[in-house]
Amino acid sequence: SKVPPITLNNGVEMPQLGYGVWQVPDDEAERAVGTALEAGYRSIDTAAIYGNEEGTGKAIAASGIPREDLFVTTKLWNSEQGYDSTLRAFDVSLEKLGLEFVDLYLIHWPLPAKGTFVETYKAFEKLHADGRVRAIGVSNFLPEHLEQLLDATSVVPAINQIELHPHLQQQAAREYHAERGIATEAWSPLGQGKGLLEVPAIVAIAQKHDRTPAQIVLRWHLQIGNVVIPKSVTPSRIKENLEVFDFSLDAEDMAAIGALNEDRRIGPDPATFSLV
Ligand code: NAD
Repeated sequence: SKVPPITLNNGVEMPQLGYGVWQVPDDEAERAVGTALEAGYRSIDTAAIYGNEEGTGKAIAASGIPREDLFVTTKLWNSEQGYDSTLRAFDVSLEKLGLEFVDLYLIHWPLPAKGTFVETYKAFEKLHADGRVRAIGVSNFLPEHLEQLLDATSVVPAINQIELHPHLQQQAAREYHAERGIATEAWSPLGQGKGLLEVPAIVAIAQKHDRTPAQIVLRWHLQIGNVVIPKSVTPSRIKENLEVFDFSLDAEDMAAIGALNEDRRIGPDPATFSLV
């Protein structure tokens, strides 16, 4: 594969760049994921709530790519938090994906007011012990939620998947994760394509390297150590987002992007998000 792996805290290797499928309808997912696999992506990020695990699974089956060369992530939706409901929801996801195991299973949101992420994670530990998930982790957890989880459970999450892009650089969370061996995965790495890709500093760096703004932003993520999962349904962009391993940003470029942080979220605040 074109994409170099990172090694998670349990020794499992994960491609540092993958393909995200949020907002891709199930009937389009087969084509979109198929295009991504053909372009060379080997890691796919879906979730039960995206409603496209079936289409994703069809593309995987049709690709003919050996299972051990793929890295499939899915996520437990909020309404299914709790020990038994998690085990049941996992079976449903696996069935829809048409797989025997997933590579990474994530708790989608912490829902701190509900108070069920610890028991949910204990079900994740069972799935991991049973060999049905190669690595377990979380998404949208603030350090305070991770602190609670680490105190009450034994498997350190392999990953925390959080909103992260040049306008929300998440310095404190990244340091917290690094100190505990938790990899940081960036969702909406391109800021959902809204505005970020027209920021003059990014456009200037793109011109300097004869690359696109999206490629510059993805390269910045890779160089600060993030796992990234850009989404596009446009074949040319799907390919473009993968062509980021044959150039690098220099210290000046990195500093210019580093200066764009505004601590500004696009998505919900994990401390209060409670949608089920
Ligand atoms: P993103 O930052 O990947 O942006 C995607 C959008 O950017 C596309 O729809 C398109 O409009 C534009 N774009 C993509 N490639 C481009 C290119 N080369 N040139 C110009 N424009 C381009 O946003 P996202 O989809 O929100 O995030 C990526 C993935 O992260 C999702 O698909 C999903 O898998 C995951 N995610 C997870 C959570 C979570 O709560 N865990 C939340 C949101 C997203």
